[in-house]
Amino acid sequence: MTDVSGILFVLVALLVGLATGKAWERYKLVEGRWIDRRRVRQSPYFILGLNYLVGGQVDLAIEALEKASTLDPGALELRLVLGNLYREKGQVGRAINEHQSLLQRPRLNRIEHANVLLCLGLDYRRGGFVDRAVAAFSDVLKLDPNNEAALVNLEKLQEDQHQWQEAYVTRRRLAQIAGPPDQPKSQSILAFLENELGLQAMKNEDWTEAARRFEAAIDLDSSVIPAYVHLGDVRVNQGDLSGAAAIWERSIDVSPDRAYLALQRLERVYSDLGTDSRFADLCRKLTAATPREWRARAALARHLSSQGQPSRAIELLFEALEHNPHALAIHQAIWNTLSQLDLPRHLVARYIQITREAVFYLDPHLCIRCRYRSTELLWQCPHCHEWNTFVEERITPATDTEAEILTGVAR
Ligand SMILES: [Zn+2]
Repeated sequence: MTDVSGILFVLVALLVGLATGKAWERYKLVEGRWIDRRRVRQSPYFILGLNYLVGGQVDLAIEALEKASTLDPGALELRLVLGNLYREKGQVGRAINEHQSLLQRPRLNRIEHANVLLCLGLDYRRGGFVDRAVAAFSDVLKLDPNNEAALVNLEKLQEDQHQWQEAYVTRRRLAQIAGPPDQPKSQSILAFLENELGLQAMKNEDWTEAARRFEAAIDLDSSVIPAYVHLGDVRVNQGDLSGAAAIWERSIDVSPDRAYLALQRLERVYSDLGTDSRFADLCRKLTAATPREWRARAALARHLSSQGQPSRAIELLFEALEHNPHALAIHQAIWNTLSQLDLPRHLVARYIQITREAVFYLDPHLCIRCRYRSTELLWQCPHCHEWNTFVEERITPATDTEAEILTGVAR
């Protein structure tokens, strides 16, 4: 919904620009007769159209603005906006026709030409014509090298096609144009792109290059967790187990919320290093710091089960289940452990007691920008294409204090 209101805001801003920017250009010769351009802006249809746009009634806005546009068929901005509205309604072919016909007009100035091409590029992108969209945005940049909208769209198209290096260059340009206020956001995006480049190098088994990329990602933005996870994997491949353990431990310090991404890896590497006890210590530390953290409990339970201590494991799993009844992994671990214990009646009864009043639901990962849901944690949202916007939505037990709920929301 914020996307729609954002688009509407831009459209309204464009129309207001029409009303002020060209106020001096009152009269215009169209097909042999003088047209009073003020008539368009003074026509009730123009104002009506704006009102409908603000109210989000796109169909009525189109109807009114089309009527306003018949008063001055030459008004470029009005046709431009109408084309955009067709696209927003999903009539991509009609939008393309509208914008293409504007390109045919003689005497378009540089900025008008760039604006029309930008709208056409957006039509192509919406219609899935990737190559044509890339060409249109590139043409905009030839006319107007600092056009941020063209750069942002180009970057997203490059990311969609996994052209990470190209996307990186585009983001660098954007960062330069936007200047310092936008820097943290750009740094974070660049870090995620470095991480993707590192993954590409890993696929090619170029471990040195991969390590360099992941390190660069962490330097750009120390909160980009996948770079730590993958850098540890590279260190294991290079035979540097202590190095891997160190980088994974650092990732947990940076983001305890995402500790579980490193837990299984650490369990393996501690065992290979012959320092098994470090794993149990780490899980206990995590659980103590965040009482509702379930993955550390589940990981420790699995560890204890594998070491022949299922009775201690089942207690941890019951605790985890009370906090997170929706996590299927806990239920599976509980039944595994109960079977290992030969299904003692009193423990089965406790399980039923704990789950009796629980609420179950799917897709706990939620994009905080567009509310897209996913069963797994994603680093880039497939819907709004933003980086690092997923949080895990949890069912809040009725016993929680208000302060705890607020910290949950803030997070
Ligand atoms: Zn999203």
